[in-house]
Amino acid sequence: MAASDLTQIGAHSEAPQQKDLDKCVHCGLCLNSCPTYRELGMEMDSPRGRIYQMVQVAEGKAAITDTYIEHMDLCLACRGCESVCPSGVQYGRLIEAARAHIDQNIRRPWHVSAFRNFIFGTLLPSRMLLSLAGAGLFLYQSSGLQKLVRSSGLLKFFGRLHEIEMLAPSAEAPFFFSQIGKVFPAEGEKRYKVAMLAGCIANVSFARLNEATVRVLQKNGCEVHIPQAQSCCGALHVHAGRKEEARKLAKNNIDATLDGGFDAILTNAAGCGSTLKEYDELLEHDAAYRDRSIAFKAKMKDINEFLASIDIRPPAKPLNMTVTYQDSCHLCHGQKIRLQPRKVIASIPGVTLKEMALSDLCCGSAGIYNVVHNEMAMNLLKNKMQSVNATGAECVVTANPGCMLQLQAGVKIHGKEQPVLHVVELLDRAYRG
Ligand code: SF4
Ligand code: SF4
Repeated sequence: MAASDLTQIGAHSEAPQQKDLDKCVHCGLCLNSCPTYRELGMEMDSPRGRIYQMVQVAEGKAAITDTYIEHMDLCLACRGCESVCPSGVQYGRLIEAARAHIDQNIRRPWHVSAFRNFIFGTLLPSRMLLSLAGAGLFLYQSSGLQKLVRSSGLLKFFGRLHEIEMLAPSAEAPFFFSQIGKVFPAEGEKRYKVAMLAGCIANVSFARLNEATVRVLQKNGCEVHIPQAQSCCGALHVHAGRKEEARKLAKNNIDATLDGGFDAILTNAAGCGSTLKEYDELLEHDAAYRDRSIAFKAKMKDINEFLASIDIRPPAKPLNMTVTYQDSCHLCHGQKIRLQPRKVIASIPGVTLKEMALSDLCCGSAGIYNVVHNEMAMNLLKNKMQSVNATGAECVVTANPGCMLQLQAGVKIHGKEQPVLHVVELLDRAYRG
């Protein structure tokens, strides 16, 4: 896209705020925690370099050029830089604003716009369309066509399609959409009444994970509600700079859960949780939803965070396996949750946790980043798998469906096809013996 194609549209600017930009003192302490800087060694692909470019645009000294867009797009939004920044720079907020500002100020080629509008505006919020897409994927995978395509080697002739196809999620029939609107009773004494947000694509591709989450919660005395009116959380929209669509989804999820008298509102997806907990920032200028979004945030919990905060009922039988844990970026950097998943793992008798080096460095998943920046994502995955393999663990555990997909490709390409599980699935296995 040429800079000359840039068109100023939209009245309300989504641009990074000066007060947020000013927090950066350009010390560079974040550089070594940045996966793209570690990979490329380029200042402009480091947190400090990206913030510098944002400042230039904010002060009108530089325009939104193709180069600027490329450097912003190549960021994983993993927020690894945020965790180490001594000045408290909220980098996640900055990159989301920079992308929204780009989206607000450029005119994309019509077919790109149409594709983005369909994915973000039509497909992700629609249960019916996601079910149809899931059914198509299920047919492709269960008919043997996927096996045939993979073994033919045909995809190798289409750029990186071979690598991208390896990252395709499985369609897990029956989809979890059929459980939406239901209430699952607590096992034994009812201790909590909780709502579970089941995601969007996860209803198709992580249906078994969602079921395991419900079972684990029931086992721990929770009455689990899957509110009927819930929708996609809007995380992918925020990361793509489409904040207006995300705001609509946020209001919908707040209305679907907040007045239900729940002790907690839960998600098993770290990427979703990070955005769900930031609805208050998304709606900070919305007078009708400002207070409701703050109340929602207070109840919103990641499943690991919730389980670690209650007395987990210990599984009766040991699992006897070694596992290594990959910190999902949006759990450890976005939500500052590191100890809780480890506490849940430690609660399972027989499980030994072998920590990998740099467990909090991004695996390259980052929403749809591994599709749109596949080469960088696969390089990061290769490094990640070296750390995983060095532990000798029999199983890789993490806390986000997107990371699970990336690591599943990793164990196939660089590993020993070790199982990749969510923390909750590990606990569920222990409960089920
Ligand atoms: S983001 Fe933080 S750590 Fe990085 S250069 Fe700025 S002040 Fe330093
Ligand atoms: S969010 Fe991740 S990729 Fe982006 S600048 Fe920060 S550390 Fe680097």
